Amino acid sequence: MHEDIAAIRDDFPILSRSVGDEQLVYLDNAATTQTPEQVYDVFEEFYAGYNANVHRGIHTLSHEASVAYEEAHDRLAEFIGASGGREELIFTKNTTESINLVAYGVGLNELGPGDNVVTTEMEHHASLVTWQQVAKRTGADVRFIRVDDDGKLDLEHAAELIDNDTQLMSIVHVSNVLGTVNPVEELTELAHEQDALVFIDGAQAVPNRRVDVEEIDADFYAFSGHKMAGPTGVGCLYGKHHLLESMEPFLYGGEMIRHVTYEDSTWNRPPWKFEAGTPPIAEGIALAAAADYLDDVGMDFVEERENELAQYALERLTERDDVEVYGPPLGEARSGLVAFNLDGVHGHDLSALLDERGIAVRAGDHCTQPLHDRLDIPGSVRASFYVYNTTDEIDQLLDALDVARDELDSHLASEQYHDLVYEHYRNPQNTGGLSNPTFTKHSEETSCGDDGEFHVDVAEDGTIENIAFESESCAVSSAVASMLSERLEGMSLEEVAELDGFVDEVLDGTYPDIRRDCVVGPEEVICEAAREQMDGSNGRAVL
Ligand code: PMP
Repeated sequence: MHEDIAAIRDDFPILSRSVGDEQLVYLDNAATTQTPEQVYDVFEEFYAGYNANVHRGIHTLSHEASVAYEEAHDRLAEFIGASGGREELIFTKNTTESINLVAYGVGLNELGPGDNVVTTEMEHHASLVTWQQVAKRTGADVRFIRVDDDGKLDLEHAAELIDNDTQLMSIVHVSNVLGTVNPVEELTELAHEQDALVFIDGAQAVPNRRVDVEEIDADFYAFSGHKMAGPTGVGCLYGKHHLLESMEPFLYGGEMIRHVTYEDSTWNRPPWKFEAGTPPIAEGIALAAAADYLDDVGMDFVEERENELAQYALERLTERDDVEVYGPPLGEARSGLVAFNLDGVHGHDLSALLDERGIAVRAGDHCTQPLHDRLDIPGSVRASFYVYNTTDEIDQLLDALDVARDELDSHLASEQYHDLVYEHYRNPQNTGGLSNPTFTKHSEETSCGDDGEFHVDVAEDGTIENIAFESESCAVSSAVASMLSERLEGMSLEEVAELDGFVDEVLDGTYPDIRRDCVVGPEEVICEAAREQMDGSNGRAVL
C-alpha cells in the first residue's frame, strides 16, 4: 500500500473495525464517506468548549460559536472557488434541501406555462422529483437530455432542448450511478446563451475533484457534507450573490428576518435569509474541518486516486463475462464508482453475501429509478471508492463475486431457510405471464429494487384458476412468489384477501430476520390485489 494511503487510513479509525469476523471493506462512499478524526474531534471541541446558539447572544460562548460558524461559511465558499465568501454560501441540511431551496425560491415563483426546465436522464431523485413537482405546480415542462449507451449526455440533444423558453437548467455534475463526469461548463454556456439560470447538483463532484463554481459559471451549486469526509446534517448551496439577494426565502422564522411587525416582515441578508431557525452549528464547523482535511490531502491527489481505483475496478470487472457494467468504458473519464450486475444474482443477494465478508456496497436503484428504467435493469450493485480505498480491497470484492453464486446456492439451502424456499428458488413454478389475465398486480420495492408482477385468472365461481408471476426480485422473494402461486390456485378471492401470516405458517417462521420483508412481501401484495379486485379498485384490472 502506498505510504500516503496508509497514513490517510490511520485518520479513519472506523476502517480498522471488523464486521462479524471480517475486516471492514467500505465501498459505499457515494452514499456516505467515512469521517476522519480531524473532523469528528470538532464535535468534542464544540460541545466541551463553546456550545451555544449563534448570532443571538452577546456572551462569550455565543460569540465564539458565531465566529466559528460564520467563518465555516467562508471556508466552504473558498473550497469551491466562490469569491463572495459567506454571502454566497448557505448551509442547508443536505443537497436535497439545497435543491428544494432553489425550487421554492426560483422555480415556484418564476416558472409558468410555456416555460421549461432542462435536466438530464441521469438525475438523482433529489433533483428529478423536485423539478417534476415544480413543473406540475407551475404548468412548466421538464425536458430530459438523453444519456447515450456509454452513459454520457448527448450534447446535440441538449442544444436542441435548451431554447428561448428554458428558464432553468438543472444538471448533475457527476452521476451517482454511471460515474460520468458531465461537461458542466459547456452545458452552462449553452444555457446562458438562452438566458437560463443554471443549477448544478455537485453531491458526487465536490468530494472527489477540485470544483470551481466561478470557472463553471454556475448560478447555483449544491453538495452534501457527509459525502466529503464531513458530518451528516449539513449541506451547502452556493448561489451568485445578486441571485440570492433577489430570491424569495425558502423557510420562514427566526434569524432569517431583519424587521418584523404584526403585518409584515423584511429579510436578513444572504446567507442568513435562507437559514431560518437554529442552524447545524457544530456540523457546519466540522464541515469546514473536512474541507481543511481534504485540502491537506490535496484534491488533485483525491481525484487521481479515485480515478485509479475506478479504472482498476472497471478493468477487473470487464474481464469477466458474467458481469455487466454501466457508464463510460474503460479508459474514459469516470469518478470513483462502478455500478454493475452479476448475471443471475440479484443485487440484494449479492450485497448481503458481500456483507458477510465485511464488504459494504450498495444495491438497488440508487435513487435513480428512471435511469434504471432507461438502462432496462431493475437495479444495480454499486461499489464506490474514496481516497482511502485500496486496490487490495477491490481484489477482495472481485474474489467475493467469484464465490457469490455458489454461496447463494448453499445459503438458501442452509438451515436458516425452509427447504421449500430452496426448492422454489431452484425450480420456480408459474413464472412468466398469462395472456389475458383477469387482473394483474405490479409491485415495486423502491428501497431495494425488488420488482414483480402477479397475473391472475379468476374462474366464474370466484376462485383462482391460474396464477403466474414475473419477477426481477431477489432470490428469496422470487422463491416465495413461486411458492404462493402454487398454493393459491383454487382458493377464492375472499380467502386470498384474508391470508394473514400464511407464508409464516408454511415456513414455520424459518428465515433470517434480515430477509423478513422479502418473505412476507409477496403475500402482502397478492392479498392487496385480491381485496382491490373484490372492491373494484384495481386500476390495472383487465376485464
Ligand atoms: N444528488 C446526487 C448525485 C447524489 O448522489 C445524492 C446522494 N446520493 C443526492 C443528490 C442527495 O444527497 P443528500 O441525500 O445528501 O441530500
